Amino acid sequence: MLEINNLHVKLEDEDKQILKGLSLTVEPGSVHAIMGPNGSGKSTLSYVLSGRDGYEVTDGTATLDGEDLLDAEPEERAARGLFLAFQYPVEIPGVGNMTFLRTALNAQRKARGEAEISSGDFLKLVRAKAKDLKIDAEMLKRPVNVGFSGGEKKRNEILQMAMLEPKMCILDETDSGLDVDAMKLVSDGVNALRAPDRAFLVITHYQRLLDHIKPDVVHIMAAGRIVKSGGPELALEVEKNGYADILAEVQA
Ligand code: ADP
Ligand code: MG
Ligand code: MG
Repeated sequence: MLEINNLHVKLEDEDKQILKGLSLTVEPGSVHAIMGPNGSGKSTLSYVLSGRDGYEVTDGTATLDGEDLLDAEPEERAARGLFLAFQYPVEIPGVGNMTFLRTALNAQRKARGEAEISSGDFLKLVRAKAKDLKIDAEMLKRPVNVGFSGGEKKRNEILQMAMLEPKMCILDETDSGLDVDAMKLVSDGVNALRAPDRAFLVITHYQRLLDHIKPDVVHIMAAGRIVKSGGPELALEVEKNGYADILAEVQA
């Protein structure tokens, strides 16, 4: 599904190489986790995959279902089923949550050459999904993320994901702000959306998140590359011993 090969990325404005030969294959139906010390390039990877400005790909490829991702506009990537949930959800004063969701859904449909969703169908859909996620009607009317608690923002992020029905979901979760309740929201949301034709890439530095999500594969990232991959036991090893042992072993 997602195939990244030898990806090299530098900052556009600075002579600073951040990703240095990252390769990764995520199969449909699977959940992959990326862990790694601060500054190893985890967020940069999610930004580059989403098409954010400021980064330059100097080598390597990334494809979704065999089609190049890196040359596509961000909207085109979303239309093809890529979804990114970010560590700092954006607040959009003056734009109601429902309006935002409807706009995002219609942008995706338009890019796919599909007709806009009718008001009636949209309302039915958003109410059903919100109910599944225990989001009340009040929250759907408020401006996007404005004044939302940390938990509400997480719930909203999962709602966005549920509405867009992406096939490749990337979640970049920093440690800060992810308390036990928020962690449970994220993991329940991911678990509820798991499907044979959908895959997840969960970026975290917290082993505990992975207790609830149960990844199929865990990757350790350091200095811009994946240095080790394994099963869920790799996350437990990190929790117990930190990264030092793994990094020493890789460098040896
Ligand atoms: P992680 O998410 O693993 O903590 P990041 O991808 O945020 O790592 O950052 C990787 C490295 O690149 C860090 O050294 C960070 O300071 C640097 N970096 C990332 N983006 C920028 C930027 N826009 N300007 C300057 N340095 C950046
Ligand atoms: Mg960081
Ligand atoms: Mg980060």
